[in-house]
Amino acid sequence: MKNRQNIRKFLLLISFILYPITFFILSPDLLLFGASEKIVAGDILFFGLLFILSFVIGRLFCGWICPAGALQDYCFVINKKPAPNKLNWIKMLLFVPWISFFVFLAIYFGGFKQVDFFYKRAFGISIAGATEWIMYFMTVALVVLMAALTGKRGLCHYLCWISPFMIIGGKIRDSLKIPSLRLITKPDLCNSCGLCSRVCPMSLPLDELIKNGEIGHSECTLCSTCIDSCPKGVIKFAFRYSQKIIKN
Ligand code: SF4
Ligand code: SF4
Repeated sequence: MKNRQNIRKFLLLISFILYPITFFILSPDLLLFGASEKIVAGDILFFGLLFILSFVIGRLFCGWICPAGALQDYCFVINKKPAPNKLNWIKMLLFVPWISFFVFLAIYFGGFKQVDFFYKRAFGISIAGATEWIMYFMTVALVVLMAALTGKRGLCHYLCWISPFMIIGGKIRDSLKIPSLRLITKPDLCNSCGLCSRVCPMSLPLDELIKNGEIGHSECTLCSTCIDSCPKGVIKFAFRYSQKIIKN
């Protein structure tokens, strides 16, 4: 469905244009500063919201809204090679120390006394001066460099500090047997053309995954590119339990 991809690309474009405004809400910096001043900052509130939403819509944010995701999609013109999935664990490894440091700061400084969504952001706008612009362009450079060096959505695979919240949320959701938005498949219809695997922005081996009756991969961002590319209508959205739960 071409319209769906146009809507998705439009949302990503708007999000990327607004990135200088939303920059700190999506960065891990403020929550650390906030914890040292007993303040719950906007970014941890946003990450918490994504964690809760992941119980229902998985990683839809990554495929449809994330400005860094949008920038990486634009980097397909530099490097359109698949990024290897076997090193995805790196981002989970990096997640542990910084989130542990946040917990340490919160405990060391005696907890929180205030919630401030606009903490350190005048009128809610992230970029207010030269320092913030430098941080912004350094982040943009990192995203582009990762995409150029490692392939499609390289930062999503190996360095993203936000996706672990949604990946962990998805694991908890499945262990609690909660239904959610998923990609289900009808393997019998597949002619093994391999198109879905070639177009997947997350470089997932879809021609293999579809045999399970659902995609069910923690790196799937529900972007629906595979659905809209498949000539046989093998893949569809559905709101239901994971295939493992249904089988049991
Ligand atoms: S499996 Fe499909 S929906 Fe998931 S990331 Fe790949 S193309 Fe997007
Ligand atoms: S694009 Fe459709 S028909 Fe082709 S391999 Fe993927 S699921 Fe099968």
